[in-house]
Amino acid sequence: MSRKKVAVVGAGLAGLASSIRLANEGFHVDLFEKNPYTGGKMTVYEQDGFRFDAGPSLFTLPHLVDEVFELSGKNPRDYFNYTQHSTACKYFWQNGKELVLKSNMEHNIKAIESSFGLGAALSAEAYFNDSKKKYELTEPFFLQQSLHRFKTFLDSRVFKVLGSILRLGLFSTLNDVNKQYFQDEELVQLFNRYATYNGSSPYKTPGIMQMINHLEHGKGTFLPIGGMHEIAKSLTSLAREVGVNIHLNQNVEEVYSDGKIINALFVCGRKKFYDAIILNTDVHFAYQHLLDKKIKRPKKTLAQDPSTSALIFYWGINRDFDQLDLHNIFFSKDYKQEFEQIENNSNFWIDPTIYVNISSKIETADAPAGCENWFVMINVPANEGQDWEKITNDLRDNVLDRLSAELKVNLRQHVSTERILNPMMIEQLTSSKGGALYGTSSNDRKAAFLRHPNKKLSGYKGLYFCGGSAHPGGGIPLCLLSGKLAANWCIEDIHE
Ligand SMILES: Cc1cc2nc3c(=O)[nH]c(=O)nc-3n(C[C@H](O)[C@H](O)[C@H](O)COP(=O)(O)OP(=O)(O)OC[C@H]3O[C@@H](n4cnc5c(N)ncnc54)[C@H](O)[C@@H]3O)c2cc1C
Repeated sequence: MSRKKVAVVGAGLAGLASSIRLANEGFHVDLFEKNPYTGGKMTVYEQDGFRFDAGPSLFTLPHLVDEVFELSGKNPRDYFNYTQHSTACKYFWQNGKELVLKSNMEHNIKAIESSFGLGAALSAEAYFNDSKKKYELTEPFFLQQSLHRFKTFLDSRVFKVLGSILRLGLFSTLNDVNKQYFQDEELVQLFNRYATYNGSSPYKTPGIMQMINHLEHGKGTFLPIGGMHEIAKSLTSLAREVGVNIHLNQNVEEVYSDGKIINALFVCGRKKFYDAIILNTDVHFAYQHLLDKKIKRPKKTLAQDPSTSALIFYWGINRDFDQLDLHNIFFSKDYKQEFEQIENNSNFWIDPTIYVNISSKIETADAPAGCENWFVMINVPANEGQDWEKITNDLRDNVLDRLSAELKVNLRQHVSTERILNPMMIEQLTSSKGGALYGTSSNDRKAAFLRHPNKKLSGYKGLYFCGGSAHPGGGIPLCLLSGKLAANWCIEDIHE
């Protein structure tokens, strides 16, 4: 019997993960990537002796990467390793307050007590416990399974989750939940920030997103040895080893259907036929540019807001800063105003929150001796044709002034090399709508259910979806799970 053939379009993390799973099943897998490199948003820049991870900087749930190696019969440690970093993040406010939170509840409660008092510490303890409960209750249902399959609802745990829906905070916002726990504006702001981990607004995203902070404070933050890009690099090596045919510089131009069976694509001037096709492309791009116009569009899904995007300055800094850690946040004075600016797509920014990631704090080879590689990121809206040149110039000044004041130096004198990435560039490089980092936002309590299923339903056969804009959403862990759900669904259907 000839081997079943599956095409995967896009070598982002989800595309790599699903290709490996399909190849392990004995299928012939062609993975098409339009860029000359794999990894999609997880890429790397090297400039003037500095190495910068261009995309993700925060790594949680590393066992999901390990799992892909283990199911391929490999020891992950032969390909990829990581260390745990005890400090989750260092926070700076403009009133001079500072706080270091770790992946250690006892430390965090004590740190909050010493900066904000006993009442805040007791609230924090209750908050962390509640976050853990919410995570443990919802993770097996919302993340590990497809919300669009009947069999998911046969699992008795689902009813436990549905029964707890009010307590989970689906009908209040994350900001509402945080205000119930904390009186100090700084702590509300700190825990509101977790909405940005999936590109949403704390003033709109449901309170259930409280569980995100458990990933950092309960489960831990990690850094791959060699930097974040090692995740994509090692998965690419594994994909090649298990027999995935990776075709770089091959832009898929069209995906064809034969009635309700989706079975061919057009790439490099040729139509190629497959038993199944998995798209790791953004779903908006897929419906707009790839899929046959006769294929029914999921209107409600496509009407969802994109997640936020980012403006990133990659700065080679010609000195070191002892007061900074791997992850650092310099908060804005008025968080609400900041999210209104994002929502209104404003062309100017007053006082944004600034994230500074410095991988050379751990990976010393990422910068020349005595220097540091700064990844400086601001949350901005997805690209809708804004004047990015003006926004970039304004924000660059704003950020340099703010950080110079905080660090009591003239930072301009210490930026020895620079590179910039804006939403328009992210969109061009990855074909993600507006350069959104995490697919669609979770600014709606129905968002999890409206995200694109991992399979094209409504009677169609042969087409599957994975990646940030498909279930369960964006970010490294969720994209790996998305690749798993799409591949497993495809494997089950082919074996049926
Ligand atoms: C600046 C930045 C910071 C981030 N920070 C974090 C973080 O700290 N932690 C975290 O967990 N996540 C973070 N993320 C999000 C995370 O990187 C993404 O959610 C994840 O990498 C997306 O993976 P994906 O599988 O959706 O594919 P993508 O990375 O979107 O890749 C899709 C691939 O498909 C290819 N493609 C598209 N169309 C075609 C076509 N027609 N033919 C062939 N190939 C095609 C593209 O070229 C691309 O390579 C960040 C992202 C960015 C950009």
